[in-house]
Amino acid sequence: MSRASEVADRVARPRAEVTDSGVWPAEAFAALQEAGLAGLVAPGDVGGAGLGLRAVAEVCEALGAACASTAICFGMHCVATAVIAAKATPALRDEFLAPIAAGEHITTLALSEPGSGSHFWLPQTKISPDGDRFVIDGEKSFVTNGSHADSYVVSTVAAAAGSPVGQFSCVVVPAGSAGVEWLEGWEGIGMRGNSSRRVRLDLVGVPARCLLGEQGDQMWYVFEVVAPFFLMAMAGTYLGVAQAALDDAVAHLRSRRHAHSGRPLAEQPVLQHRLGVMWAQVQRTRALIYWAADEAERGGPQALASLTAAKAEVADCAVSVTNEAMTLVGGIGYRDRSPIERHLRDARAAHVMSPTTDILRGWTGRALLDVPLLSE
Ligand SMILES: Cc1cc2nc3c(=O)[nH]c(=O)nc-3n(C[C@H](O)[C@H](O)[C@H](O)COP(=O)(O)OP(=O)(O)OC[C@H]3O[C@@H](n4cnc5c(N)ncnc54)[C@H](O)[C@@H]3O)c2cc1C
Repeated sequence: MSRASEVADRVARPRAEVTDSGVWPAEAFAALQEAGLAGLVAPGDVGGAGLGLRAVAEVCEALGAACASTAICFGMHCVATAVIAAKATPALRDEFLAPIAAGEHITTLALSEPGSGSHFWLPQTKISPDGDRFVIDGEKSFVTNGSHADSYVVSTVAAAAGSPVGQFSCVVVPAGSAGVEWLEGWEGIGMRGNSSRRVRLDLVGVPARCLLGEQGDQMWYVFEVVAPFFLMAMAGTYLGVAQAALDDAVAHLRSRRHAHSGRPLAEQPVLQHRLGVMWAQVQRTRALIYWAADEAERGGPQALASLTAAKAEVADCAVSVTNEAMTLVGGIGYRDRSPIERHLRDARAAHVMSPTTDILRGWTGRALLDVPLLSE
C-alpha cells in the first residue's frame, strides 16, 4: 500500500482543497493509474493485481485520509471493475478489463435511481433485446465519476411484457454511447469532487457482449460482488476521513497555546479524555473493517454480518470523530473551508450512501439470524 500512500501524499493531499471546490480529481486518478493501481482488483491474466477486499479498503483508507473525494472516485472504479471481472467473457476482458489494468480506462457504478432511491437493488431502468444488442432506457442518479469515466456499470430490469417479474440484469455502457445525457452537476455538501451526477439513458443501444453474466443475474451481482466491494471501499474511505480528523486534532492540541497561560491545549484533561475516546473509536472500527475483509476473503461464517456492520460502524465513527475533532480544534476548526470542516462534510455522506446505516443494521441482524436480507 506504499504506492497508494505515496500518491495520496504527493498528489491527492495537495489538491484536496481544489477538489473540494467541486473539481473531479483527474490528476490524482491519473497518478493512481501511473502507479499501477487502477487494476487493483482486475484479474492477473489481463495485467491486473488480482487483489480483493482488504486491498480495496487499504487503498481507500490511504486516499481517504488525504482526500475523501479521490477515495470514493477510486473506490467506485474498483467496485465496477470487480463487477465486470466477476463473470468476464473474453470480449469483456479485451474491451474493458485489459485497458483498466493498463491504466487506460476508468469504470464506475450506476445503480441508484431517483425513483427507488436507497433501494439500489430495484432499478426501474428498462433493458430490451434488439437483434445483436440491448436497448437501455431510464435514469440513474448519484453516479460517482459521472461524465468522467470511460464506462458505466448499469443495473436494469427486463422491459418486455411477460418477462419474469424482477428479472434484473447488469450491463456495461461505454461512455459516449448515443442517448447518454448528463443532467445537473453534483452539488453535495461534501464529497464535492466526486462528480456524483444524474444521467438520462434515452434508448441507449449497447452490443450484446456488454451484458454482465446471464440475463436476470443482477441480484447475484448486487449481493455477491457490489455489496462486499462497495462496503469495503466505503469503509476504507471513511476510516481515512476519521483518521485524518483525529490526526488534525492531535496536531492542534499539541501546537495551540494560550497567551494568558503559555500552556498547550494538550495539557487540558477534558480534551485528553475526549481524544482518548476518539482514538479508541477509530482503532476498534479499523479492527472490525479489516477483520471483515479477511473474514469475507476466507469465506468465513461471519462474512456478511461483519461486512454490513463495518460500513455502519465506520459511518458512526467518521461522523462522531470529525464532529469531536471540531470541538477540540474549536472556532479555528469551525472556519469555512478549514480541513476539519471538510472532513465533517465528507463524513456525513457515509450514513446516507446506500446501503444506509439503518438498512445495514437490519441486514446485520438478519445475517446473524439466517433471515434473507431482503425479507419484509
Ligand atoms: C456522495 C454520494 C455518492 C454516491 N455514489 C453513488 C454511485 O456511485 N452509484 C450509485 O449507484 N449510487 C450512488 N449514491 C447513491 C446512494 O447510494 C443512494 O442511493 C442515495 O443516496 C439514495 O438517496 P435518496 O435520498 O433517494 O434515499 P431514500 O431512498 O429517499 O432514503 C432516505 C432515507 O430513508 C431511509 N429509508 C428508505 N426506505 C426505508 C425503509 N423502507 N425503511 C427504513 N428507512 C428507509 C433511508 O435509509 C434514508 O435514510 C451516492 C450517494 C452519495 C451521497
